[in-house]
Amino acid sequence: MPREKSENSPDPIARLPDEWAAEAVRLGGRPFHGTQIFRWIHARGEINPSHMTDLPAAIRGRLAQDGVGGVGSVCTVAHELRATDSTRKLLVLLGDGASVETVLIPRIVGAKSELPSPVGLANDADAAAADDDDDDALGDNASTSISVTQCISTQVGCAMGCAFCASGVAGLKRHMHAGEIVSQVLVGRARLDPGERLGNVVLMGMGEPLHNYDATARALRLITHPLGIGLSTRRVTVSTSGLVPEIARLGRDFGGQIGLAISLHAADDETRSRLLPINKKYPLAELMKGLHDYPLPRRRRITMEYTLVAGKNDTVDQAKKLIRLLRGLPVKVNLIPMNPIASSTLTPPDLSRVLAFQRALCDAGYSCFIRRRRGDDVAAACGQLAIHGAKPKIRRNC
Ligand code: SAH
Ligand code: SF4
Repeated sequence: MPREKSENSPDPIARLPDEWAAEAVRLGGRPFHGTQIFRWIHARGEINPSHMTDLPAAIRGRLAQDGVGGVGSVCTVAHELRATDSTRKLLVLLGDGASVETVLIPRIVGAKSELPSPVGLANDADAAAADDDDDDALGDNASTSISVTQCISTQVGCAMGCAFCASGVAGLKRHMHAGEIVSQVLVGRARLDPGERLGNVVLMGMGEPLHNYDATARALRLITHPLGIGLSTRRVTVSTSGLVPEIARLGRDFGGQIGLAISLHAADDETRSRLLPINKKYPLAELMKGLHDYPLPRRRRITMEYTLVAGKNDTVDQAKKLIRLLRGLPVKVNLIPMNPIASSTLTPPDLSRVLAFQRALCDAGYSCFIRRRRGDDVAAACGQLAIHGAKPKIRRNC
């Protein structure tokens, strides 16, 4: 069952500064001590109260007793796999023994200048993340350090059952709670190489973030809080298979500031329902209306993820349908040749078909990238994050 804590008493690691202020008072301190505790945990990644040297000893003692108890065990890294391109996949163990994966994807230095836009390759999940060049809020190191995009999970497994996705093979095991979601960022940031910095976070790992809305929203507030990890909202992207009411809720709760990526994968209901069962509940017309209503800030675009599957959604005619469907919506399109998975007979199209699909979109004026598969040798591409021990059952009827 979900280990979700009530909104009124979140796990210590999921507390926001005002909640820590109340907790500090409860522990016999002053409200500003709560802000200090939040900073220690989220800005510095320090969860051991005895190391929080600017706190009075009495509060450190109380924290050790019952305040931050359990923070250390929210998640631990059980295993790290490093691909030849420096992408790292971390196997993260949660407190109850469940495991999820998170991926660190360094930007390839010089990639941008080598590749013409809009016809070009983009880096995996990085392609849904904000560009570095247009942010001046990253400090002096921004231009010299390597920006890393971290892809994080929001559920153990997934209930959505998309035809080509390893995360949904065994169904939903449980929701992650907000502390677990944000902990992935804390352990990921602690494992950055010298010269790297956390540039973007994408909620594109295991699970459907908007199916676990409350925990996801709290995690977004934690990740973007200026006293903590402090990522700008536009450097955080939520990817969704298209839960229309929750897209509207996200838009309302964050004023449209959080980046949005939509797993579209088809431009007609028949094809989309075969690939993504959620389309039967929220068909394309409803989804597109929801996207047109999303309070997108000026000059920002919605990322459209389109996984190309041989013989299913990869013809130039389907590209033309996509062009018609997207008309009038500010978007960039990421084409992802499907990563083969053990539980499915579906395969990626030949490169010539991928290029023809891209050409049709580019000719119609869309910014359209083919996503480079990063971390292939450690199966770290998004959508390849399987539950360990999940039994693959071969799905043929799509
Ligand atoms: N549940 C959310 C986020 C996680 S999936 C969503 O569906 O958007 C992240 C992305 O990986 C989605 O666009 C998904 O469709 C894609 N994906 C899943 N399996 C894949 C595979 N085998 N090959 C390529 N892309 C895949
Ligand atoms: Fe779930 Fe996303 Fe995978 Fe679909 S693609 S099964 S929504 S994780």
